[in-house]
Amino acid sequence: MSERDVVIVGGGVVGSATAYYLKKHGFAGRITIVEKDTTYQLCCTARSVGGLRQQFSTPENIALSKFGLALLRNLKAEFGPEADVNFREFGYLMMASADGLDILEENHRIQIANGADNILLKGPDVAARFPWINPEGVAAGCFGLSGEGWLDPYSLMNLFRKAAVAQGVEVIPAEVTGIDVKENRVTSVTLSSGERIETTCIVNAAGAGGGAVAKLAGIDLPVGPRKRYVYVIDCPSAPEAMHKAPLSVCPDGIFLRPEGRHFLTGISPEEHEEPQVMDWEVDYQFFDERIWPVIANRYPVLESIKVINAWAGHYDYNALDQNGIIGRHPAIENFYFGNGFSGHGLQQGPATGNALAELITFGTFRTIDLARLGYERIAAREPLFERNII
Ligand SMILES: Cc1cc2nc3c(=O)[nH]c(=O)nc-3n(C[C@H](O)[C@H](O)[C@H](O)COP(=O)(O)OP(=O)(O)OC[C@H]3O[C@@H](n4cnc5c(N)ncnc54)[C@H](O)[C@@H]3O)c2cc1C
Repeated sequence: MSERDVVIVGGGVVGSATAYYLKKHGFAGRITIVEKDTTYQLCCTARSVGGLRQQFSTPENIALSKFGLALLRNLKAEFGPEADVNFREFGYLMMASADGLDILEENHRIQIANGADNILLKGPDVAARFPWINPEGVAAGCFGLSGEGWLDPYSLMNLFRKAAVAQGVEVIPAEVTGIDVKENRVTSVTLSSGERIETTCIVNAAGAGGGAVAKLAGIDLPVGPRKRYVYVIDCPSAPEAMHKAPLSVCPDGIFLRPEGRHFLTGISPEEHEEPQVMDWEVDYQFFDERIWPVIANRYPVLESIKVINAWAGHYDYNALDQNGIIGRHPAIENFYFGNGFSGHGLQQGPATGNALAELITFGTFRTIDLARLGYERIAAREPLFERNII
């Protein structure tokens, strides 16, 4: 049996960022990431749409994303002159119908109070600013003037992982299949190879597998996979300005954003539409029936399009309140969580990694107080809802 100080389960953006910030904060112990798929092809990070926004309804989520934004602005100083994640700062445009107007306005107030650079546009102003949008049924739109856009998720994850490995973090290609807990402390983990590693603490950064990993330690964590589709569409007749448009979210939740010469679109299904999460197959009928009629109406130029590609990803879904769970277990104090981001974990990965590294190194959060996002609310079944889930 070998010994470690920190074992991180999962080497996606959250696990890799945790390892990176542990080193940055001067943590001197031995750090190991255990990753069951070192191709990273199927992890949530690689399947993400890469969006970063300030448009959340909880101050903590805004602060987490602002940390990510500050990193992007400082990327070359942090990781070297070659570092690039292709950040496209074209903004977000969240549209609301009359029914959703109160919530949009309330969210906007929270965002402004927390330093976001957003404006509220009334329906006709949305169409005046973005003439390819049909404003019918749009009461208002909240538009990010700066600090919002999207980036290449895989590149961000690689920057963290490579920088961590360069500083001595080890990556073991294996699955964590067992976690031993004695007298309220994790003592060791067992790997699919049969190896057992003694450890001083463990970080659960297993993405959609977060609930399963917690269960190995006897911990109930309502985080599991939810399947989401992303469709890539081609529309040769789209006006040039549409290729620099913000990521827009229709009042009914469908998102659309440019991706080079193409566009990405998708929606989180209603509860009754949730697909089985057994595989990575794409449901093209879902696009034809659920998405295309809406986008063809909202963006009339998209009446004539072709779906040229698509992929499925497994969201790391927190069934209690769709918010991240960041912190340590109240009783098993050497078990740390970075889980359940429900579609916003890419942009929150850097801040989460930093927060967990602070907690492990210094015993407390130093940059952002994330106490409200801790496991205590999960144990008490007291949700802290995030209203702006895409
Ligand atoms: C379609 C889609 C679109 C998205 N769009 C956005 C977006 O626009 N903006 C945004 O911020 N977020 C978005 N997300 C969410 C975001 O991608 C995730 O929240 C984030 O990547 C989670 O990172 P992670 O490191 O926690 O998980 P992952 O990237 O999934 O990494 C977890 C790793 O743990 C490994 N693992 C699991 N169990 C074990 C085990 N037992 N032993 C060893 N290894 C294990 C897995 O193999 C995996 O590599 C999107 C997600 C999807 C699917």
